[in-house]
Amino acid sequence: MMLDSNIIIISGPSGAGKSSLCNELLKHTNNVYFSISSTTRKMREGEIDGVHYHFITENEFLDGIKNNIFLEWAKVHNNYYGTQNSQVINALNSGKIVLFDIDIQGQKSIKKHYPNATSIFITTPNKSILESRLKSRALDNQKIIEDRLELAFNEMQGIDNFDFIIINDDFNNAFDGFLGIVKSIKFKNTKSKSQKILQLWQK
Ligand code: 5GP
Repeated sequence: MMLDSNIIIISGPSGAGKSSLCNELLKHTNNVYFSISSTTRKMREGEIDGVHYHFITENEFLDGIKNNIFLEWAKVHNNYYGTQNSQVINALNSGKIVLFDIDIQGQKSIKKHYPNATSIFITTPNKSILESRLKSRALDNQKIIEDRLELAFNEMQGIDNFDFIIINDDFNNAFDGFLGIVKSIKFKNTKSKSQKILQLWQK
């Protein structure tokens, strides 16, 4: 049976440490499936097609939208990003926890489809720390960093809609919190879970 309480969505400004936290989590767990989004953005150094993203062309993406293959999609930083429905459903059906690293537009759509999903917002304590992290990772040029900072501010406006907030000022502390939340979802109550337990009690 598909359990939408097994869905974890993480969002937050680029550079806040979402990818590092997800990578660390995958090292510590064996029942978490990281949802690999499709994107039209250029591959960055160190990224692998089919691992970090499915890197596809804009035409392929637009065909995907037409053919309804995406659970949700959004245009972020002028590139398309989307989550394919089939891979999520397969992972949930096999009892895995599905982890999404998506923006706040994606978080809203997934919560609409899967109301029992848990959402976590990850951010830095303030804007200047984010700026220095974006500069030090040197993945993007100055213009892109400025765009990302502006988008970070927009992204922050969605913070109220999240179940948990992790301020990533110390990686180990942030990771402890993240792991704790992931471990706790096994115990999350849902209507179907409590009904099932009540039925067993009636026997
Ligand atoms: P980046 O280019 O830094 O990998 O990601 C840019 C933004 O796109 C991040 O905020 C990331 O969470 C978001 N993103 C990645 N995949 C998806 C997706 O499938 N759907 C949506 N809505 N956002 C995504």
